[in-house]
Amino acid sequence: MNEIEQYIRVIQDFPKEGVLFKDIATLLQNPKAMQLCKKQLIDLVGDQKIDKVIGIESRGFFFGTLLAAHFNAGFIPVRKPGKLPYKTISELYDLEYGTDAVEIHIDAIKKGERVLIHDDVLATGGTANAVCKLVERLGGEIVQCNFIIQLDFLNGKEKLKNYTIASALQY
Ligand code: 5GP
Repeated sequence: MNEIEQYIRVIQDFPKEGVLFKDIATLLQNPKAMQLCKKQLIDLVGDQKIDKVIGIESRGFFFGTLLAAHFNAGFIPVRKPGKLPYKTISELYDLEYGTDAVEIHIDAIKKGERVLIHDDVLATGGTANAVCKLVERLGGEIVQCNFIIQLDFLNGKEKLKNYTIASALQY
């Protein structure tokens, strides 16, 4: 068993009935677990050159900045609509009911830059796939989509089949 699994709290019926939510707050509040998780996320990338790390709002920000510091890369927040103050481009994606969107600043990535995308959880893959499209529209090269947790039964891997994905834990 991966040692970090014991630090993740599973909450039944959040945010709605039938969902088993993986809560990383319990991992974040434990310094040993934070260090372990950080090391595992870094090891998933290896010694590849990274120019920018994207953290997906909001739980992708925690380890996203730590990864950026480790790889001596810039950190880029991707956020929900209306949160970023400068000029943005946005990408819509489908939810179970309706759509949502993610946005990035237009000057966040330069053509040819090598980009690592990080979020806490890969579920259906809709969010990460939309972020990949944003990166490609700005001319970035996606090195890896990197997650703490991958929910295999939701098959996000299929939606991200054109990209390299890596995760510390799989459920
Ligand atoms: P997807 O677009 O892959 O269906 O959903 C991924 C997004 O939803 C991520 O930004 C992630 O933070 C959030 N998410 C979905 N399920 C869970 C979960 O069980 N736990 C946590 N912490 N986040 C989740």
